[in-house]
Amino acid sequence: MNQAKAASMQSELELTRERKYAMPQSVPCVVIVGGGFAGLAAARALKKAAVRIILIDRTNHHLFQPLLYQVATAVLAPGQISSPIREILRRQKNTTVIMGEVTGVDKDQRCVFVKSPDRENVPVKYDYLILATGVRHSYFGHDQFEKFAPGLKSLANAVEIRNKVLRAFEQAETEEDVSRHRDLLTFVLIGGGPTGVEMAAAIAVLVRDSLRSEFRRIDPTSARIVLLDAAPRLLGSFSESLSQAAKKQLERLGVEVRPGHAADQIHCIARSGWQAVTWRRSSRDATGTLCW
Ligand SMILES: Cc1cc2nc3c(=O)[nH]c(=O)nc-3n(C[C@H](O)[C@H](O)[C@H](O)COP(=O)(O)OP(=O)(O)OC[C@H]3O[C@@H](n4cnc5c(N)ncnc54)[C@H](O)[C@@H]3O)c2cc1C
Repeated sequence: MNQAKAASMQSELELTRERKYAMPQSVPCVVIVGGGFAGLAAARALKKAAVRIILIDRTNHHLFQPLLYQVATAVLAPGQISSPIREILRRQKNTTVIMGEVTGVDKDQRCVFVKSPDRENVPVKYDYLILATGVRHSYFGHDQFEKFAPGLKSLANAVEIRNKVLRAFEQAETEEDVSRHRDLLTFVLIGGGPTGVEMAAAIAVLVRDSLRSEFRRIDPTSARIVLLDAAPRLLGSFSESLSQAAKKQLERLGVEVRPGHAADQIHCIARSGWQAVTWRRSSRDATGTLCW
């Protein structure tokens, strides 16, 4: 291709881009990092502003985190609690969506660095920067627990937990050694906040309603669901009466609720991935499925 033709194609591409973006490159650029509730709200609030918005998220979807526990317990499919960010913002002409992970910010140069599947440190310039990257869950000084007990923050976490829960029943059904059934069908959840409470109740409903008639060699309703929390009561940020009500409801569903029990050690006890959770340094539960 001759140089003149290449140059004309290039300028055509730029023209198309200008038309599509509908905003001249001269208006200020707002970079928003994160397409969660905060990032999307910021982008929408600027819908009519004379700015170009570049929204960067490391995933291509917005996630409704409050329903993650339903995916983790096989009630909902991943696609029911997530939508492509690109689709959500498709009518917002001043906004471009980029999938990539922001790995750094250079305040002096006013640019963020983006890592995408095939490129590292791609600079994206901004005039205004909004960081809306959310939070991580905390292992309260026990980061070594992460490999045993996944938290519930992303779709990948939810699918991993769902697979672990369902696999435990499959393994127990094929396990000849009946003495191992109890450990395989023990589900230990660490953390009695809203997510732990919801997860415990959802697993209890799953085993008692959905799975009860589907197995022949094991009784799914014999599964133990243990909810540990270091604090003296569940749902510490709610009122005392709500904590009591939640505890009562969980116990009615057969969940073993253990407030005031901090998990102080977790270790692998078998190659098949069984874990032992030790609490109060004296008692111990063996479990095939552990969640944080
Ligand atoms: C299991 C669970 C249940 C919950 N239940 C409730 C509830 O019932 N009620 C309630 O009010 N709240 C609930 N919450 C809390 C609520 O979901 C959060 O407060 C809310 O999601 C926070 O929104 P955010 O936009 O700040 O962060 P997030 O929603 O976490 O979004 C952050 C975004 O930033 C992206 N990101 C992060 N780092 C980078 C990076 N370096 N580069 C590019 N992108 C990045 C992430 O991919 C993500 O899309 C729950 C949370 C969880 C985890």
